[in-house]
Amino acid sequence: MARIIGGIGVSHTPTIGYAFDRALQDDPAWTPMFDNFKGVQDWLDTAAPDVLFTIYNDHVSSFFFDHYSAFALGVDERYSPADEGGGERDLPPITGHAALARHIGSSLMADEFDMAFFRDRPLDHGCLSPLSMLNLDSGGWKKPIIPLQVGVLQFPIPTARRCFRLGQALRRAVESFPEDLKVAVVATGGLSHQVHGERAGFNAPEWDQEFLNLLVADPDTLTRLTHADYVRLGGAESVEVIMWLIMRGAMGGTVRELQRSYYLPSMTAIATLVLEPKARPETAAGAQLDQLAGAERLEGTYPFTLETLAGAYELNAYLHRLVQPAHRMAFLADPAAAMTASGLTPADQTLVLDRDWQRMIHRGVTFFVLEKLGAVLGIPNLAIYAGMKGITLEEMIATRNTEITYTVAGGRKPV
Ligand code: FE
Repeated sequence: MARIIGGIGVSHTPTIGYAFDRALQDDPAWTPMFDNFKGVQDWLDTAAPDVLFTIYNDHVSSFFFDHYSAFALGVDERYSPADEGGGERDLPPITGHAALARHIGSSLMADEFDMAFFRDRPLDHGCLSPLSMLNLDSGGWKKPIIPLQVGVLQFPIPTARRCFRLGQALRRAVESFPEDLKVAVVATGGLSHQVHGERAGFNAPEWDQEFLNLLVADPDTLTRLTHADYVRLGGAESVEVIMWLIMRGAMGGTVRELQRSYYLPSMTAIATLVLEPKARPETAAGAQLDQLAGAERLEGTYPFTLETLAGAYELNAYLHRLVQPAHRMAFLADPAAAMTASGLTPADQTLVLDRDWQRMIHRGVTFFVLEKLGAVLGIPNLAIYAGMKGITLEEMIATRNTEITYTVAGGRKPV
């Protein structure tokens, strides 16, 4: 069984990555920060977690307001550093623990948290600024991660209480994973700062210490604060400290505080905190955490899951891109060449070229990209259904109440 062995709270300002990349540990302005992080590194070395579940917020680098989620869980096998405007940091891609991430995602959904899931999204300083200090050495990244992106930049955002409860559910999720894994929960963000408007530069060191005290001993009080309270007490952008409550919720009732540090060099208070769960809390029973148990026995039925997608991501992504006119015109002009250029395997190309709808479903392709392929090729949906069932189009039509066919093709010519 997997278990949570500890929690880290850490600021995620870009300055941390800036100082790390330039090796400024001997610069008097930065030495205190490096010393503070050393305490967290020591705990990581001793406790030796297998996975770092890392809670952060993206700063409109990879997630924009065209589709903004409260809780987006990374389920990818690897993550690249984001280009935030001046080129990527010189960091290798970091491995994700995709199997545990998928399990946690399924468990949280069954526990009534409506998660979003992401792949193919680079990680910005919110995640990699502190991780580069804590999880990187000359040999590369030390531990795989599971990133959880919390949307805190555009109100409405999750409440402090919701974050705390998500942490409690995260613990249930981790503890129901069958493999023996030690998981550390790393919460990033804050503490006090404001980076916009006439109040830019606001800091509140006394509130920061009170926040840390409450987080350790009385998190319930923090869960009762509104977003306006956090904005007033710590500055507008410090509201992201609600992410620390996810970590605290995952720790259970009482905790041991092993390390705390605080340094305020410029705009944002840079803090670190290391907690270990004191007593093993009761895991709430009752929730049916595997909502799909039994579905595998249904004949001819293949629920499309995170596991399904992980096994056939490139093929699904290729077919999804058929909604883009240039992509589908390249496909129509020379399907094999276009698919080869996109990196599809010969086996996957054969499935597409053969219009083998049934085997594409077995392969892990969602029907909703197959109907796009049908629209591109002028094949009606009912012919796809017939292909999946292994019958003729006429036989399929005969099973319906009326004799009609259709596709999702529109017809307006692309400009
Ligand atoms: Fe931030």
